[in-house]
Amino acid sequence: MDLPKLAIAALGGTVSMQARNANEGVIPTVSGETLLASIPELTNLAWVTVDTLGLLPSASLDFEFLLSVLSWANFQIRQGAVGVVITLGTDTLEETATFFDYLWDHDEPLVLTGAMRSAAQAGADGPANLLDACLVALAENSRQRGVQVVVNGQIHQASVVRKTDSLALQAFSSPIFGPTGMLVEKTVRYLRQPAQRRVLPLPQQTTQKIALLEASLSADTLLLENILDLGYDGLVIAAFGAGHLSKSWADVVEKITEKIPVIIATRTGSGSTAQSSYGFMGSEMDLIRKGASMAGFLCPRKARILLWLLAGCQCQDKLANYLNEDTRFQN
Ligand code: ASP
Repeated sequence: MDLPKLAIAALGGTVSMQARNANEGVIPTVSGETLLASIPELTNLAWVTVDTLGLLPSASLDFEFLLSVLSWANFQIRQGAVGVVITLGTDTLEETATFFDYLWDHDEPLVLTGAMRSAAQAGADGPANLLDACLVALAENSRQRGVQVVVNGQIHQASVVRKTDSLALQAFSSPIFGPTGMLVEKTVRYLRQPAQRRVLPLPQQTTQKIALLEASLSADTLLLENILDLGYDGLVIAAFGAGHLSKSWADVVEKITEKIPVIIATRTGSGSTAQSSYGFMGSEMDLIRKGASMAGFLCPRKARILLWLLAGCQCQDKLANYLNEDTRFQN
């Protein structure tokens, strides 16, 4: 029987971690081959190519490396893979998923997974997550859904998934939207139709710098005032509530928007920014008047990815289109 081709890459993260000696902390050491050996049932389902592209904690991944992983994944699709699975750290999974999703230009699924417990821990979740991710990547109904995160039996859309718990097994959720699907007795079940996705061109440069600052009560403006002198090409602010700043921050933002794009997102962890509700100095209406763009449902970290990618292909002028008309959030 002709089995479908599936490509798997390991980048590191807890799913690839173990301790070298007793009493030492775990570090990434486990190859993709070894991860694959933990799910022998896959050999009956697919013809698998596996590569270890890195062994990194996800805090140390960077955009250049992710671009090289993307080009590996593109190559696998050209070689006939029906889907691609990448195992990596969960700490930055909400960002890596978004990064790939803006650039993934295939109907075939790109599925990201990881683990909250390392291989030696009782009840390790790595093998179960990897098998689920492979099932999602192989499923016909996963096509045209872009990049998805599969963890703990749930399927989350890249654009909305967030790490909302530091250590719990159920560390991922998609606030407001919920999971897009789940695995039921090894069957991939979706709860919604795929959203239309607009894919960005590949960045032509990678040297652009986008700052992310969080507003906090009674904060000084020192860092904010120096953003331009420090050479940043864009700024995202995780703002209060529906996208609000103090008057002193708003005054500085007005100067910054004359030179570089500024996105105002909400620091609350859930929900959208407002557009036309509040009129005080530092409110969303004031910030829009001062030239800032509101992130809508896009969380601050994902907004920073978007701005970095847009700046990388000189498409900053399309920021409003991507923020206001992104159909990723429409179902
Ligand atoms: N705790 C992380 C993980 O779950 C470590 C990392 O992100 O590399 O994978």
